[in-house]
Amino acid sequence: LTFLGIESSCDDSAAAVVRADENGVAEVMASVVEGQTSLHAAFGGVVPEIAARAHAERLDYCVDRALSEAGLSLHNIDGIAVTSGPGLIGGVLSGVMLAKGLAAGAKRPLWGVNHLAGHALTPRLTDGLPFPYLMLLVSGGHCQFLIVEGVDRFRRLGGTIDDAPGEAFDKVAKLLGLAQPGGPVVEREAADGNPARFTFPRPLLDRPGCDLSFSGLKTALLRARDALVAEKCGITVQDRRDICAGFQAAVTDVLAEKTHRALAIYLEQRPLVPALAVAGGVAANKTIRARLETVCGENGVRFVAPPLRLCTDNAAMIAWAGIEQARAGMPSGIDLVARPRWPLDAQAAPMIGSGK
Ligand code: ATP
Ligand code: FE
Repeated sequence: LTFLGIESSCDDSAAAVVRADENGVAEVMASVVEGQTSLHAAFGGVVPEIAARAHAERLDYCVDRALSEAGLSLHNIDGIAVTSGPGLIGGVLSGVMLAKGLAAGAKRPLWGVNHLAGHALTPRLTDGLPFPYLMLLVSGGHCQFLIVEGVDRFRRLGGTIDDAPGEAFDKVAKLLGLAQPGGPVVEREAADGNPARFTFPRPLLDRPGCDLSFSGLKTALLRARDALVAEKCGITVQDRRDICAGFQAAVTDVLAEKTHRALAIYLEQRPLVPALAVAGGVAANKTIRARLETVCGENGVRFVAPPLRLCTDNAAMIAWAGIEQARAGMPSGIDLVARPRWPLDAQAAPMIGSGK
């Protein structure tokens, strides 16, 4: 099966071609991602209207490029998969309308894919993981533990009750006058910092369960910064490094402890090949990644981290999820609807239909 995937739910316009053989061995033949960071930079966040217009302008070009890089035309494609939610609705609609046009014009079947399911199924594309496995999705917009039991079966064990960790990294960078996106910059600063100088809170560790919280951490950090400024009229380069190190250590501790708990619940299912897979931009952080790997080691669980370009937003994961849905016999249809909200464990709710 060879599928075209289209993704436009946030600030990346993406198209990809993925081919999978009968044995489940898959190949990403092309994956085009056009970011929009520079368009939104002046506004301090993604502006939905600008994002939607940029998707509408660029997606056709992304599709063209993906097809030509794969050396294929639409007529060699077995199916089209498009992100139909959740996300910024203007962007999702741009992708959905383009996909419907292509599907109707080329007479190809069309599948709507949940963006989060795309992330969650990626370790099967890259590593052929068998169900069930535990997924930790940590990005700029999400943070949750899922047991992935099937193509459309996800059990959410817990997630953030406020900010996502990537968002927290970005806000910390902003508070300290560092560049965006904050994650890589804060990680670099933290490398030369002393994580023990500031002890920031580890929110929700005292409460049972797998829920996480990161907004209190940011407030504590703001207080630490302001105390330093009041004390000596500014913060030094070393202060900044120490704050970053302290912040990263707190996030790492929280993610590690909650991963322990999520693994305990997951291992009760006695999976044949126990595995934890990560997705999302924060999984690029070396300290966090190493700690998660240690936690897995302690639990006798395989640790799977797909390459970063497939961990962050991309369309290869959408094409792959489409292939999985087609194989599972899930219905295709040109009448799918775009959804701004679409929690994964409600995946069982109808995806096809007028939605009226
Ligand atoms: P989503 O995909 O959930 O809608 P998103 O598009 O913002 O959200 P990603 O593209 O997966 O998410 O990841 C971007 C986020 O990852 C940013 O918040 C960024 O700061 C963070 N990030 C990237 N690299 C690192 C790093 N080395 N350490 C920590 N965070 C990082
Ligand atoms: Fe995403």
